[in-house]
Amino acid sequence: MKIKSVRARLFQWKGKTVPPQGNFCSNAMDLLYAPQETMSTYRFHSWTVVEVETDTGIVGFGNVALAPQVAKVIIDEYLAALVIGQDPWDYEYLNQRMYRATHAWGRKGIGMAAISAVDIAIWDILGKSVGKPVFKLLGGRTKEKIPCYYSKLYRTDLKQMQAEAQKFLDQGFRAFKMRFGYGPAHGQQGVVENLKSVEAVREVIGYDNDLMLECYMGWNVEYAKRILPKLEKFQPRWLEEPVIADDIDGYAELNQLTSIPISGGEHEFTLYGFKQLLDRKAVSIVQYDTNRVGGITMAHKINALCEAYSVPVIPHAGQMHNYHLTMSTLASPMSEYFPMFDVEVGNELFYYIFSGEPVAENGFLQLRDDVPGLGLSLKTEFLDQFEIVE
Ligand SMILES: [Mg+2]
Repeated sequence: MKIKSVRARLFQWKGKTVPPQGNFCSNAMDLLYAPQETMSTYRFHSWTVVEVETDTGIVGFGNVALAPQVAKVIIDEYLAALVIGQDPWDYEYLNQRMYRATHAWGRKGIGMAAISAVDIAIWDILGKSVGKPVFKLLGGRTKEKIPCYYSKLYRTDLKQMQAEAQKFLDQGFRAFKMRFGYGPAHGQQGVVENLKSVEAVREVIGYDNDLMLECYMGWNVEYAKRILPKLEKFQPRWLEEPVIADDIDGYAELNQLTSIPISGGEHEFTLYGFKQLLDRKAVSIVQYDTNRVGGITMAHKINALCEAYSVPVIPHAGQMHNYHLTMSTLASPMSEYFPMFDVEVGNELFYYIFSGEPVAENGFLQLRDDVPGLGLSLKTEFLDQFEIVE
């Protein structure tokens, strides 16, 4: 079996969107003086879908959600030629080939995201070629089903946040992640608002369910030091990405300082990036995303690394490429889960592009033993609401 072609298409959402509201999530732009720009960095309304086809007629799907326009060019201009004509079973060689051929510029960020998409498609081919789901090739089933946490609760009106938490509590979720609306630029008033929002959600879900707190890199170390002691009484399961991804010293300092586990890794790349985070004890929970770190080949190695360091892996964003990794390792106790909503931030788009994505029942996800590969196919239902760039 040889790879015959690689096709990367950009899916740009043209359908209905929910407009962003006020300070719905703190983010890295908050520290600048032009707050009106901040939400523009926080929308992901296009996606690159990669189809890798073999000479035996198998098509594997991969995807990129980070700067997908740029990822498409990288795949078309650099990566396709490196894998065409090759045996997909040589996946380690192919992953290394893409990584080393683009090393001068591709090591972190969009270069690795593009590599990830091709690698994910290759693993989809492998599963399909032997009639097995991908998780069976990675170690198999380590859980009856995957516990997942409800991830949304953007900062809005507190009553609205409480109603949202109640709705998904009633659907059987036992873990919830909420977003902070405010950071250093909002001063003490913002601190008070942030604390109020945590209190409001805890009021609904109680203390026998998990609560996770998301900063999305919108704070700095000084601000985090100020607010963390006040958050401890709410017993969060973790506090996510308090500072920008490059401030590893900041993560390490905060993780040593507070009883709240600090999490991160959704903006980190490769085995080496995660070894650095783990060696520095910068995070207590690793949150890689398979479609950023270097694909399934790389994520599988990071799972092993985290197992050796006894640090749990709870991948970013859910989605099939991550669920198969979570199912196949004890290092990963649960998954993030974004339910399908109208298109807002863009995490939802996966459901509009692909069929086969599992839907949570009572706070659990299931992967089927009898669906080969990743279990995804292109959805026709919403096709006319995308502009597709070949
Ligand atoms: Mg996050």
